[in-house]
Amino acid sequence: MLKPGEPGPEPPPVLDLDGVSRVYPGPPAVAALRAATLRVTRGDYLAIVGPSGSGKSTLLNLLGLLDRPTSGTYRLDGVDVSGLAERERTALRGGRIGFVFQSFHLLPHRTAVENVMLAQVYNGRPRRHRRAAALAALGRVEVGHRAYALPTTMSGGERQRVAIARALVNEPAILLCDEPTGNLDSATSLRLLGLFDELHAAGLTIVVITHDATVAERARRVVRIVDGRMDELPAGAVR
Ligand code: ADP
Repeated sequence: MLKPGEPGPEPPPVLDLDGVSRVYPGPPAVAALRAATLRVTRGDYLAIVGPSGSGKSTLLNLLGLLDRPTSGTYRLDGVDVSGLAERERTALRGGRIGFVFQSFHLLPHRTAVENVMLAQVYNGRPRRHRRAAALAALGRVEVGHRAYALPTTMSGGERQRVAIARALVNEPAILLCDEPTGNLDSATSLRLLGLFDELHAAGLTIVVITHDATVAERARRVVRIVDGRMDELPAGAVR
């Protein structure tokens, strides 16, 4: 038994990759990710950097359960996901992972609040609860005043925030973002990084893929991929 004040057993990492490889069969076969090992604990803020074609999207798709490793083990919140059926993976993805795509993937003819509510259709809660949660998520990322606007009438920064609200509404274990500043001007990018800082300070676990050094230097950890091989940079290396 633990004595008072003694630390309890460590919770499992949110993400745990052990020797994960992904080979696209081709021909020619491409080893896009080679024996990647990575542990991300609750509250981490991690940037994944690397040149174009190095394997960043391959890694993000594996982490987001959009693709499966060729070999190695991936545990999400302590669950080995390799043996799961597609239906179980979809359920886990919906509940545990918030994914922000580079191009946002918002439905143009639905309002911001409807777009966020669509992420909750499988959670079984009544519509008025889903609406309240969607409005709260929009408010949390400071775009509540645009709740009834269509994405086509919004700025890039506003659309990005709606996409983040949609990713957060199911209270995921982790937020995965693909090139979050890729489509934003520099002032809007800085505001977005401020938002990530706030979400991180509130305890959210964040993983961002980026080739932008200003994004990487805000993260707590930086992992670099070159030719499918991953290594972690020492703290402060990109500053
Ligand atoms: P990044 O996101 O860093 O630009 P990717 O993960 O997209 O890199 O690509 C890594 C390597 O895998 C590249 O050589 C790319 O051409 C290759 N690749 C990516 N997706 C596929 C695919 N579906 N089929 C075959 N090769 C692919």
